[in-house]
Amino acid sequence: MAALDTTTEAHADTRPANAKNLPDYAPIPRAKLGPTLNEQGYYVGRVERNLYWVTDGTYQAAFLTTPDGVVLLDAPPTIGHNIQRAIDEMAAANGVTNKVTHLIYSHHHADHAGASSLFGNDIVRIGHEETRRLLLREKDPARPAPAETFDDRRTVEIGGERIELAWYDTNHSPDNIFIHLPDHDTLMLVDIVNPGWAPVYRSNLTEDVQGYIAAPDTALGYSWKHFIGGHMGRLGTRADVTLHQQYMADIAASSRMALDTVDPTPYFMRYGENSWAAVRGYLDAVTAAAATPVIEKYTGVLAAADVFTASTTFHVMQSIRLDLGYASQVHL
Ligand SMILES: [Zn+2]
Repeated sequence: MAALDTTTEAHADTRPANAKNLPDYAPIPRAKLGPTLNEQGYYVGRVERNLYWVTDGTYQAAFLTTPDGVVLLDAPPTIGHNIQRAIDEMAAANGVTNKVTHLIYSHHHADHAGASSLFGNDIVRIGHEETRRLLLREKDPARPAPAETFDDRRTVEIGGERIELAWYDTNHSPDNIFIHLPDHDTLMLVDIVNPGWAPVYRSNLTEDVQGYIAAPDTALGYSWKHFIGGHMGRLGTRADVTLHQQYMADIAASSRMALDTVDPTPYFMRYGENSWAAVRGYLDAVTAAAATPVIEKYTGVLAAADVFTASTTFHVMQSIRLDLGYASQVHL
């Protein structure tokens, strides 16, 4: 098993990489990967009826073709110009316009929105009001702020198609929304569940761990069959969301157990007045104790469980201490 890099802080090997010396990880089961990409590096497929999804193997966007124009859901820069190529392909095959008229942002992050400006200034951009505030603040020309915003719910009707937008709480980011297409049996919820894969660093680089852990339950409260998670090479199912919930619940339970059992005393005895060294030694030990059984359980079940479980465990364990107040002792 690879060493547990619990903190992602210093101590990293900064020498130039030599591929031979890089760590080994468990193989990725074929079922975790999606369809083969074309020569240009993308795959576009039908989700249901006139709803399509496009992936580069790591990121995903989706689009709805309608007689009045194309509604794009996110614009990841890694897919970039291939978004329009995928739209052209599907629009031509179905005899409808390939002109993007609307873009809905799932949230403000550049890795899902950074190709927005490719679609010009004449389209209607829609997003949560916090997405607008953050994009106006960041002033990134690649991500024009949405002109049309909403607070908690909004129904968008374009070309006879219905899209239900909802915001409930902060989770991955403060502005992350649920995009429900009831007439296409589809839910798009980005950066929460990566179907088939463990979350990347620290619960998918999430700002609010407790909101992140709660979001899949809200997702399962909707009626849908197809899940667009914004990441990796395939669509998701309800079973993917349930498996992710179980994984996060196991990390939380294991973190509590480790907080209850790892003794901090040796770290404080060893490091004396260097309190941060003691804290680091202790919390790294808690993380390792909590992550190890979860990695064992999910290796071969969730792709890359051995790569990122320690990072997410550190993050969840901190939230259990700081947000929930667990294992936080009052001085006698
Ligand atoms: Zn994000």
